[in-house]
Amino acid sequence: MTRLTVELVPSTCWWSNVRSHVAPAVWERLRRATATAAGNRCEICGGRGRRHPVECHEVWDYDDARLVQRLVRLIALCPSCHEVKHLGLAAKRGRHAAALAHLAKVNGWTAADAEAYTEVVFEQWAARSRHDWTLDCTVLEVQGIRFDPTRT
Ligand SMILES: [Zn+2]
Repeated sequence: MTRLTVELVPSTCWWSNVRSHVAPAVWERLRRATATAAGNRCEICGGRGRRHPVECHEVWDYDDARLVQRLVRLIALCPSCHEVKHLGLAAKRGRHAAALAHLAKVNGWTAADAEAYTEVVFEQWAARSRHDWTLDCTVLEVQGIRFDPTRT
């Protein structure tokens, strides 16, 4: 199984991040709980960042048949792994090569493997971005977390 994957959120998704839709104190609690549960280490590579040991990333599942975007869980990632997750953003910041290098390193891939993989990921993103998605945040709702469902 691939350890580190790229997770591009379709451009048509109702939500791309939890942080913008909950109270700041709620996000801070979720972020801390996620980091603490992971021992302040990246859940994928075990690494830590210099300024922030770990960052909080939302793992989404996309049901391509029902067109449902479901929040699976929050995960603690080092800044390098987090950058790979949002590869499109990394590219905009001039960090594409660095992100690809980290992706290859963590997965034990060659640079060509990483390039081929990201091509498939971007094709899937383009296909998913042609549809509207229904949001499923049951994983947070069962914890009693309230949302402000405004599109950002
Ligand atoms: Zn990492």
